[in-house]
Amino acid sequence: MNRFWSPLVHTLTPYVPGEQPRCNKLIKLNTNELPYGPSPKALEAIRQVTNETLRLYPDPESSALREALAQRVGLSPNYVFVGNGSDEVLGYAFLALLAHGQEILFPDITYGFYKVYCHLYKIPYRLVPLNTDMALVVDDYIAPCSGIVIANPNAPTGRAISINDIRRLLTLHQNRVIIVDEAYVDFGAQSAVPLVREYPNLLVVQTFSKSRALAGLRVGFAFGQPELIEGLIRVKNSFNSYPLDRLAQAGALASLQDEEWFTSTISFVIRDRTTLISGLKELGFIVLPSEANFIYVQHPHHDAAKLTAFLRQKAIIVRHLTGDRTAQWLRITVGTEKQCMLLLATLRAIICTPYS
Ligand SMILES: *Cc1c(COP(=O)(O)O)cnc(C)c1O
Repeated sequence: MNRFWSPLVHTLTPYVPGEQPRCNKLIKLNTNELPYGPSPKALEAIRQVTNETLRLYPDPESSALREALAQRVGLSPNYVFVGNGSDEVLGYAFLALLAHGQEILFPDITYGFYKVYCHLYKIPYRLVPLNTDMALVVDDYIAPCSGIVIANPNAPTGRAISINDIRRLLTLHQNRVIIVDEAYVDFGAQSAVPLVREYPNLLVVQTFSKSRALAGLRVGFAFGQPELIEGLIRVKNSFNSYPLDRLAQAGALASLQDEEWFTSTISFVIRDRTTLISGLKELGFIVLPSEANFIYVQHPHHDAAKLTAFLRQKAIIVRHLTGDRTAQWLRITVGTEKQCMLLLATLRAIICTPYS
């Protein structure tokens, strides 16, 4: 309690991101960053703009970046919004598009930030349980609401739903916005972006943090019809006119233009995901199907908290979430091939020998 805080601040429970250790000897499989560096072209573009022009404010509209994003999916730039990470884009979207007085719906097991925004903006929400296979069932979303937020693929489960399921949600709730958070879509799921033209109630949010290895640059974006985008721009310009700095705009643009880096990097992740999944299954793990750059696993005979602590001793960090349905699961980012092999060898040691 602090007498200087606004009453709202006392009620907040902020999001706690996965650990970012100072010591970089650890194998970091806990926050779904790529194990590879970003496109060298992005790094070069950032270097190019690291000069005296930094005294000037950046383009408040990020025009070049929005144009490139739009062009990539065959839309025009007024269908594109950009922000300081997709977390910020989502934050604006909750305030601009979901606060209509009724509750909003999202899964009981999903990205932890959604609840945090609801508390910040006082948006009531109802958690819709995933089924026993941790899959999202569209029929469970037939209810009056102020909007729906779906991560597709979902985090931390890695499971994806089909574009037809998304279409069904959009049709069920034509007067409400459906936000589809596609932070991991590039690793194999079907994107809802092709539906944007057809559905005025769809907002698709993506990021440069995961598939483009630019988490440190903080660039997220959204596709939606111009009315939705205009709503986001109004909120943005009531808060911060310049969310993307000069380095971010230049780096993100150059990254988008390096299709070769993008496709080969994605293919490494998908290849190593397959190897990791089969290796873990051989060790007796239950592994959910994953369309993301992480997998969600549990072991019938080994407690998840103990496994996490054991891996940590061996300098490998994975994500273990608390909560009734998640306490026995581990979320593991797909690392390099070498990191995946080391993880498997380390787990083999404990699974094949009892705890001391
Ligand atoms: C990582 C992640 C984000 C946030 O990404 P940033 O663009 O780095 O803010 C959003 N949604 C989900 C589901 C994520 O896992």
